[in-house]
Amino acid sequence: MAASFFFDAEPVCEPGAPAMDSCALCAKHLGRDSDIFMYRGDTPFCSEECRYEQMQLDAIRARRTAGRRQQTRSAATAESWRGRQQESAKVPAAS
Ligand SMILES: [Zn+2]
Repeated sequence: MAASFFFDAEPVCEPGAPAMDSCALCAKHLGRDSDIFMYRGDTPFCSEECRYEQMQLDAIRARRTAGRRQQTRSAATAESWRGRQQESAKVPAAS
C-alpha cells in the first residue's frame, strides 16, 4: 500500500493539520525542495499563479455570499413590513 509506506517513511508531525504535500488548487505534488506558496497561513500552493487563482475564487465566493445575504435580508424585511401593514389595516376595521 502506498499510503502505509508514506506514513512509515514520513512521520506525521502535526496530526489534524491539512496536507502540506500538494498544491491546494491543482494538487501538484510539492516536494521537499520545491517552493511552497502559503495562503491564509495553512493552505499550500505550488506557484504564485495557483495561489492567485485561489484568491480570485475566494473573492468571487465571498462576493456571492455577501450578495445572497443582502438579498435574503431585504426580502425578509419586505415580508415583515407587509405583515405589519396587514395587521394595522385590520385594527381600524375592528374598532
Ligand atoms: Zn498548483
